[in-house]
Amino acid sequence: MERQENCIFPTEDALEMILMFDRYGIISYANDTAKKKLEYESELCGRNISDIFPNTFYSTQDGFKTDYLFGHKLQKLAAYRKNLTCFPVEAKILDGCTDCGMYICMANDILEKEFLNKEIEQVRQEAKQALKVKSEFVANVTHELRTPVNGIQGNVRALLEENSDAKIMKSLRLIERCCDDMNKIINNILDFSKLEAGKFVLEPRRFHFRNMMDYVRNNHMNKLTEKGLGFFMTVSPQVPEYVIGDELRLVQVLGNLLSNAQKFTAVGKITVEAVKTAQVNDKIELFFIVKDTGIGIDKADKDKLFESFSQVDASISRKYGGTGLGLNICKQLVELMGGKMEVESEKGKGSTFSFSVWVGACEKDEAAVPEEEAERPLFVAAPAQEEISVEKIRQYGTSENLECLQKNLSKLILCVEMENWEKAEMFMETIRQMTEGAPREISRVVLKLKMAIQKENYDKIAGQYAELSRILQA
Ligand code: ADP
Repeated sequence: MERQENCIFPTEDALEMILMFDRYGIISYANDTAKKKLEYESELCGRNISDIFPNTFYSTQDGFKTDYLFGHKLQKLAAYRKNLTCFPVEAKILDGCTDCGMYICMANDILEKEFLNKEIEQVRQEAKQALKVKSEFVANVTHELRTPVNGIQGNVRALLEENSDAKIMKSLRLIERCCDDMNKIINNILDFSKLEAGKFVLEPRRFHFRNMMDYVRNNHMNKLTEKGLGFFMTVSPQVPEYVIGDELRLVQVLGNLLSNAQKFTAVGKITVEAVKTAQVNDKIELFFIVKDTGIGIDKADKDKLFESFSQVDASISRKYGGTGLGLNICKQLVELMGGKMEVESEKGKGSTFSFSVWVGACEKDEAAVPEEEAERPLFVAAPAQEEISVEKIRQYGTSENLECLQKNLSKLILCVEMENWEKAEMFMETIRQMTEGAPREISRVVLKLKMAIQKENYDKIAGQYAELSRILQA
């Protein structure tokens, strides 16, 4: 016992059970926690360690036998109480106490933890099941919704071909647009629920990269030109001609970012860039940048952007429409493709969305595109405002601003005459942004014009248009 004085004796009030025993397995020390947990009073000392851990230690005449690997690694054992009931512990038993030749066992009761783990697992399983039921329900409902919407759309198209009555045509076009919007929402909800349930499967196949980029550009060209926005698209020469990936989903991500860029940009330009950033064996990392000079995003709102159903603020959803699912879906798709999506933005200056994806390289096409061809930008559409600073166009009262305002006002009135209210609202929003900071008499007329357009009141529009033109020309 003398030698024990050099041992680092554990404190009585330790939360873990502490036992010390000799090479015969005889326990010479037990702290209060051990006595309490094992339901012994003072008689724990003198007992054999094989009474406490009968599945791990066996008592023999020469000492104890065990397969236990002594050391600092925690191991799960069954500890037996005096009444022979047992409970799980996480224990480490050290045989390193050379001064006294004693073994020290430190063990934590994990009954509660195990119980909690079981409960957590059960809750997890229930949540998984609920999610499965929910996603199956959403998948069924959206599928069922798609059929009638397509039915309405088909009939409306047929009626549009047969009819020539202006009033009926107007209503039919409105129904057609509503069907388009509904289809977009249905597709988004379907994608979202599949991604959420972890059931989304990518369909990679070989495709022509530049043709895919061309397709994305063609889908947006009309709107970009209509708005008078500059548009630049470049693909770096290092990107191979063919790659293996899910073309449809890449088009979806790029299309969504481009739609947003165009939706939230009134003046300036949009640029799309694709570069190759890395190659590991037959896998290539591609990096895409979609940059605009639009309304930008507040620092505080940036983190909310990729959350589902998030639209920064309610006024945005009223003004620009949308469900707030697009970016969340894009982010999840990009992550499925092994990449990451990020955004840099400054309120009032513009936004830059970027993302990376991993695609497969095609053996035969390693040589990529001839240098001289690939060097030139894939596409450039640069209206007159391209060279002019966006700042100047935005700043009310500059000659660039007034010229651009006049142009948008003319386009707006043309749309009103053609009863294309959606486009009229688009030009109205540009005019509103370009008159921010204008004198109050102008802001007032702009507001009245905006309200007249929302009400589709031709007479009031004509009045406010004339008034605004007069002020701008003065
Ligand atoms: P939605 O389909 O409603 O546009 P998104 O998830 O695509 O949904 O976008 C969510 C919100 O993020 C938008 O409502 C808008 O507030 C903001 N946002 C997205 N892209 C841009 C951008 N290029 N410029 C400014 N705001 C943007």
